[in-house]
Amino acid sequence: MLYRSTNGKADKAGFLDAVAHGLAPDGGLYVPERYPRLSQEFLDNLQGRDLNTIAFEVLRPYVEGDLPDEEIREVISDAFTFDAPLVQLSDGIFVLELFHGPTLAFKDFGARFMARLMRRKSRGETTILTATSGDTGAAVASAFHRLPGFRVVVLYPSGKVTRFQEQQIATLGDNVAALEVKGNFDDCQRLVKQAFGDFELRSKVILCSANSINVARLLPQTAYFFRACAQLPAGSSVFCSVPGGNFGNLTAGLIGREMGLPVQGFIAATNANDVVPRFLSGGVYEPGPVVDTLSNAMDIADPSNFARICSLFGDDDRIRANLSGSAWSDSQTKQAMRDLFEKYRYIAEPHGAVARLALGNLPGIFVETAHPAKFASIVSDALGIHYSPPAEFDELIKRKKVSIEIGVEYEDVKREILR
Ligand SMILES: *Cc1c(COP(=O)(O)O)cnc(C)c1O
Repeated sequence: MLYRSTNGKADKAGFLDAVAHGLAPDGGLYVPERYPRLSQEFLDNLQGRDLNTIAFEVLRPYVEGDLPDEEIREVISDAFTFDAPLVQLSDGIFVLELFHGPTLAFKDFGARFMARLMRRKSRGETTILTATSGDTGAAVASAFHRLPGFRVVVLYPSGKVTRFQEQQIATLGDNVAALEVKGNFDDCQRLVKQAFGDFELRSKVILCSANSINVARLLPQTAYFFRACAQLPAGSSVFCSVPGGNFGNLTAGLIGREMGLPVQGFIAATNANDVVPRFLSGGVYEPGPVVDTLSNAMDIADPSNFARICSLFGDDDRIRANLSGSAWSDSQTKQAMRDLFEKYRYIAEPHGAVARLALGNLPGIFVETAHPAKFASIVSDALGIHYSPPAEFDELIKRKKVSIEIGVEYEDVKREILR
């Protein structure tokens, strides 16, 4: 498979080159040239198939030529050591739980796949450099932790991630350096950008961002949408509501649909950061300022994967014909969390609750992107109970923090990268 840039001004690249570049040289995002439909035999016999079998079928067309079948299987079985269970709440409502990986958010699927792939196709001792507002840093640090040939440098804003997220990012040690920045997430992102633009630094170390625009993080996510359908009762007809920040998760689902995923349609669910729903209901695509919300992993003004959604459908009318969306406030989100708890005794965290809201009265699946333990205080507040993370997380909560405190000066970051 070859990958082209959404900006259309870069040469096409094979899978491993697209992974190594991350962003295309013309500043666009890589997308596969085509989205091959899976065989009818496979689609007709989806029911009951396990995640790894499905992931192999889904991913093979995208990595063919760069990775022999046996290696694809090994990368998948090393990466996906946990399932994506579908939980039935009522006759027509299902939750796809994507939080059973080591850092309890769906980002484990993409980050672990990318890490296992890069280890096999190593281009030399590599430093993974990433800025995080919480879940990405945790998933990337965990995925590369103790992986020979890699060092991880994560920048996170001091006091602006949850305690649980900080424990996940800043207690690993070994090859993971957690830089606790006395600033906000934008400072962290700016410092990371500066490092990527520093040619002197880049002549000394191989840097890679492992961020969510990378095709190695995007494509493995398509597999769990097929796995969801494999767990539906026979003959179900469903919609699928996905909570969106940068919309990588939703894009992976839409790719699935091109490949024959049996869902009626996708719904883009957002919090007050509603640039995509506004566009879908006929408005112009016009990013405003970021609004802080309870579902903070979705507090993004200008989602990077919108360019991929545009390239997938070609024009605005086709996007609107294939995708609907809606935006929800924090008070509606908390109400949805209460409803899910009162009706089904189901404890949802805010991102999943937004997806529940956007599903409305349609029969279908809403996607839970994180474990409620990551947002314990919001859950307690919304449900009016004292929710504490399950005992299995006690060990994590007690681990000793080993972060390196730095200011917002680039020289501090550079020194740590070169250490
Ligand atoms: C990252 C994240 C999202 C947003 O996912 P995108 O693929 O960027 O749309 C939603 N929920 C949680 C919990 C996340 O960590």
